Amino acid sequence: MTTAENSSNAAFAPRVTLPGTRYHRVRKTVQSICVVIFILMPLFDVMRVDLVRQRFYFFGAELWISEFSILFLTMMFLWILVAAMAMIYGRFYCGYLCPQMIFSEAANTIEKRIKRLVNRKLGALGPRTRDALALALLYLILLPASIFFTFVFVSFFIPPADLLHRLLTLDMRTAGGIFGASVTLLTFLDFAFLRQGFCTAICPYGYLQNMLADRHTLQVFFQTDAGSCIHCEKCVRACPMGIDIRKGSHQMECTHCAECVDACSEVLGRLGRQSLIHYAWGDPSQNVAADRAWYRRIGLRDGKRIAVIVLLFIYASGLSIAIHMRQPVLVLIMPDRITLYTRASDGSIHNRFRLQASNRGHAEARVMLSLADLPAANIVGLQDGITLKRGETQQFEFDVAASGAAVSPGVNHLRILAHVDPAQSDEAFAETFIAPMGSASPTLPAVKQTPKEH
Ligand code: SF4
Ligand code: SF4
Repeated sequence: MTTAENSSNAAFAPRVTLPGTRYHRVRKTVQSICVVIFILMPLFDVMRVDLVRQRFYFFGAELWISEFSILFLTMMFLWILVAAMAMIYGRFYCGYLCPQMIFSEAANTIEKRIKRLVNRKLGALGPRTRDALALALLYLILLPASIFFTFVFVSFFIPPADLLHRLLTLDMRTAGGIFGASVTLLTFLDFAFLRQGFCTAICPYGYLQNMLADRHTLQVFFQTDAGSCIHCEKCVRACPMGIDIRKGSHQMECTHCAECVDACSEVLGRLGRQSLIHYAWGDPSQNVAADRAWYRRIGLRDGKRIAVIVLLFIYASGLSIAIHMRQPVLVLIMPDRITLYTRASDGSIHNRFRLQASNRGHAEARVMLSLADLPAANIVGLQDGITLKRGETQQFEFDVAASGAAVSPGVNHLRILAHVDPAQSDEAFAETFIAPMGSASPTLPAVKQTPKEH
């Protein structure tokens, strides 16, 4: 679209009317909530990838890298959520939720306040000395802030307790320590020099949002009816991205934060007029009557958007069902057919099996085994079950034993049942018990129990 087209579209775009709203106040409230959520998310395992233990935490559920279906559904859900938000609400994420934007704006505000303070208190000094002093003070504040926010950010990938230990011991030898120090340096450079430059030059989500936006996306528009702008330039001074929205409503740098909406409302409000800048769905049609439909007013303005929301709902449902059906303790039983069967000194016949159990839950778990469909058989080696600590995986061998008279020669069918405490649904493994056809049989080696932790 050319700027001229943008401008003419913008002139007809129906306003999203939120009379009396001060977007700055809304934005700062939302941003404060986001900072708290950002800090708490890794601490309470709301969403975190533990690279050390290869776990993915999602709303308290500890998912293992091997749980492909849940991980796939989670990734698809998050990806569609991000795409749907960009398609419907444009750069709302950048303007209201993004930690990079929040901290960049905070760095701008701190810098301005320090300069004002130094100029006021140390007016006797020369301007160069005051500037140098203000800069030194700014860096003194940004350095601990960078360490703190790097700590929160890296906590999304390394357990916070482990990270705190590395920080307190000034670990610069291990990969984790070097990674933390490098991210701290980058964060400091970002806060000190780059700030919003990151959003326009580096951030891939910014590019993606611009690609997904179309004429139905929520955006901030400048209304172009000639002569109404009083050229006070307050909108330009208020813009955190340093752009002039009057030059066109579709500038790539614009994050649709609406600071310019507030600025213009304030200036023109004093003259009894409405702001020339406002949120609109970017729809050039003048079909305002159609906008009365509730679904259009929340942004579902065409089939594409409805389809993406339906898709999001499908993935969210699939994900919640998968998490709900997930068994915290994973049990696998398989036969060890290195020898088909062995005979013990008391004449009973033994078949060997392997048990692998993983505890993916938050509490200690106990696994007990029992047999069904072969009444004369019993378990040897794991009669008392096993106990698994949280996050533990163990492997064991055990035998199923039966007297030769109680089973048929050849193949017998049975089920091995695994009962887990705390309760989850029992699992049944359909297995076979092999008994000798004749009298000769190998002697029985001892049952080995080989616990193995992941
Ligand atoms: S032009 Fe307005 S909406 Fe866009 S970034 Fe600047 S202040 Fe925010
Ligand atoms: S704040 Fe409003 S009136 Fe002032 S320059 Fe910007 S658009 Fe024009």
